[in-house]
Amino acid sequence: MVQPHHIVLMGAPGAGKSTQSRLLKARYPVEVLATGQMLRDEVAKRTALGLLAEGYFETGALLPDDVMIALVTERLLRLGSAQGFLLDGFPRTIPQAEALDRLLQRLKRPLTAVIALGLDDAEAVRRLGGRRMCEGLGDPFPLHIDDTVSVDACLRLGGRIATRPDDEPQVIVERLRHYEAETQPLIDYYRRYGLLHSISAKGEPAQVQAEIIRVLEQTAQQTA
Ligand code: AMP
Repeated sequence: MVQPHHIVLMGAPGAGKSTQSRLLKARYPVEVLATGQMLRDEVAKRTALGLLAEGYFETGALLPDDVMIALVTERLLRLGSAQGFLLDGFPRTIPQAEALDRLLQRLKRPLTAVIALGLDDAEAVRRLGGRRMCEGLGDPFPLHIDDTVSVDACLRLGGRIATRPDDEPQVIVERLRHYEAETQPLIDYYRRYGLLHSISAKGEPAQVQAEIIRVLEQTAQQTA
């Protein structure tokens, strides 16, 4: 039987996590659990969690671990037992990673790969500063404002171009700082478990995707 993929996709803001998640979802039977997008959906619905998240989006800080752990635990418990998953944006701290380990151990569904997308700060700032979301056509997806072909396509199909509130310049710097301080230590955490695969996010999305697929095929062979 083909083992389902249980993937964590890490990377600094702007590294292309959501773009890569979307491409991988089209290729593999994985449920994408993107915590940032889940929170933005809650903001749109004006739920209590959404109202809480809004304050954190304004400053670029991370939400409390217990809130995020509860959110992801609930979603993972709902997944069918044969269903693969890809976590985009979770875990972001060591306590979140430890809680995830405990949960997956209990569910007997260990991680099969952790992909860390690497990008330097200058390129991250350039990408985030020009990032817009195409909304109104199913799941919102990112595009760069200079990519006029994608912008035109979004508008022609009836979508709207929006800026994420946390893509404002002063918030971008804060988000990168939080990544460095709180999320970067996870690289060593997962390296120690032998699960880490570091991939450069500098190339075109298709190039980065090809590299991720190569890693996933390799890990699938090892676990088969
Ligand atoms: P993202 O779309 O992944 O860049 O996430 C957007 C924002 O949501 C982050 O800057 C955080 O404020 C919040 N967020 C998303 N995932 C997490 C997480 N695992 N832990 C804490 N905060 C999170």
